[in-house]
Parts: sequence; C-alpha cells; structure tokens
Amino acid sequence: MKSLSLVHAAIGAFITSALMSLAQPALAQAKPGIERMYVLYCGDIALNDASSFTPGASGPGHLTATCYLIKHARGWVLFDTGLGDHIINMPNGQKSQAGMWTLKKTLESQLAELGLKPSDINYVALSHSHGDHVGNLNLFSQSTLVVQKPEYEWKPPVGVSPFKPGMKAITPEGDHDLFGDGSVVLIATYGHSPGHQNLLVRLPKTGALMLTGDSVHTKANWDSGRVPQRNFNVPQSLAALERMRVVLKEANAVLWIGHEPSEVPLRRYVPAYYD
Ligand SMILES: [Zn+2]
Repeated sequence: MKSLSLVHAAIGAFITSALMSLAQPALAQAKPGIERMYVLYCGDIALNDASSFTPGASGPGHLTATCYLIKHARGWVLFDTGLGDHIINMPNGQKSQAGMWTLKKTLESQLAELGLKPSDINYVALSHSHGDHVGNLNLFSQSTLVVQKPEYEWKPPVGVSPFKPGMKAITPEGDHDLFGDGSVVLIATYGHSPGHQNLLVRLPKTGALMLTGDSVHTKANWDSGRVPQRNFNVPQSLAALERMRVVLKEANAVLWIGHEPSEVPLRRYVPAYYD
C-alpha cells in the first residue's frame, strides 16, 4: 500500500510539473501582435508667446506636431492626425489662436510612402480633440475612432465637436488595452482637455514608449512639473503628470513628447520605423 501511495504521489508530482511546464511556455509564447511603429511629421506651430504653453518661457516659440502609426497583426493604428493637410497649400500658413500653423509634408503623402491609403487605417486613436491633433480626421471616415468618453461627448464652447456621429467609435473611460495584449494601451491623462489620453506602446525590440499628446507640451514643462494655465483643468493636468511618472516607472517606458522640437532630430521618420 505504502509503495502504491508513493507511486500515486510520484505520478501526481509528474502531472503537476508537466502541467506547469505547459502553462509557463504558453504564457511566454503569448507574444503581442505589435510589429513596428512609424513616426510621422504632422506640422509646425509657431507661437507668438512661448509662455502660452511653457510657463516661465519668454519671447516667441515653436512647437512641432507628431503623429504615430503602429502596425499590429490585428490592424493599423494611427495616433493623432496632426494639422490639416490643406495647410500645405497656404504659403504663409494658417493663423491659430496662439500663432501660426505651417505644413511641409502632408499626412496622406507619408501614408502613401508606405503604400497605404487612409482607408487602410483600422483605428484612429486621438489624444484629444484640438485642431492640431484632429486636422485630418476627415480622411479616416472608415476607421474606428478610439477616444475617451469625456472627450467624445464634450461640447466645445467655441466651434463644433470634430466627431461625426456616423463614425464607428470605441469610447473607454480610463485606461484601455486596445488589443488585449498590452502592446497598445491608451492611458487616461485628463486635464489638458476633458478626456485627454496618452498612448503606451510596447515594441518588441525598442521597448516601451509613452506618447504624450498634450498631457505635456515641452520638456521644460516635464522637468519643472508645470502645465499651461490655459488647460481645461489645471489640477487634473498636474495629477495626470504624476500618473504618467508612475506608469513610466511601472512599464519601464521612455517618454516621447510629440510637441517638443528638440526631440525632432532624435527621431527616425517615415519610411524608417521602430520595431
Ligand atoms: Zn497639441
């Protein structure tokens, strides 16, 4: 009897370890479907007064605009759509609230360089609904929008919401893992606008990156922990900065500030990519 129970115990242990060894590689093999990310130039923003976005700065300023395109096994994801492509036909640029918008290269031409049409883009995730981020949204009527609910439902006091009711939309309230594999995760960073979101991307070789939208406009703001007074909700914006510091640490991610001009020379743009 004794030897039989020993045999049973041995069989039990064998089965347990066999099950564990099955389970562990299965987890390790649950590879995310993300393949690569492209950086797209999405315009230039001249500011009459740099301090309108960077508290403490003086004199005129300049911001860049950046969009990102992600290739995932389950579809193409565009994060932000930049200044409108029509601006390329305006030699002096388009006047904005705080200065002037100009464009050297259209978003559509950059997609074309990759052999893509706007209708090939499956998801358009937007950091928020301001003009320098939704300028080309009209090109993507066939895509699925990914916008935080408070942003989607917001009625701006001036102008109209850029979101057309006919467009398919995913409207999470809070963080949202788009494909459920941790590779493309929207991070709620409300405050600059009612439902602002960042994008956390986990690339196979490059590692984790956090793309900012306007949760932080410049490196100076990030370093000083300050936000523009013109933001929709200043205390909420400051809380978003704190949240970002926590997520960056947890995800071991690097921060990429899309409006920061000094980051432009550090990036590889379309057709180059990050994998
Ligand atoms: Zn912006």
